[in-house]
Amino acid sequence: MEETTWNTIERIVAWIDESSTLPPETDKLLRVMKLSEEVGEVTQALIGVMGQNPRKGRTHRMEDVYDELSDVILTAMTALRSLTPDARKVFEARVEHIAQRALAPAG
Ligand SMILES: [Mg+2]
Repeated sequence: MEETTWNTIERIVAWIDESSTLPPETDKLLRVMKLSEEVGEVTQALIGVMGQNPRKGRTHRMEDVYDELSDVILTAMTALRSLTPDARKVFEARVEHIAQRALAPAG
């Protein structure tokens, strides 16, 4: 079977499930909350690129921002897959929905 990003997410979720010691509902909540942490890391990296912390100066490169944004995407995919086995279908339907709305000819 071809290894796709969603297959990889599937394996990551199985691995996280195995190591979890929390009640399932708490665990799902935390996986969604983890997104906030990752979004914060994007902000931290951007501030670091712009040197906007006077005490620290420039601490990050744009590559760090790209990596942190990728973490956000991966964490969201992991959270979605933890909530529903239909994650891939849900996501693709959502992309299609947004595309139709955004790309529809103005009328
Ligand atoms: Mg991160």
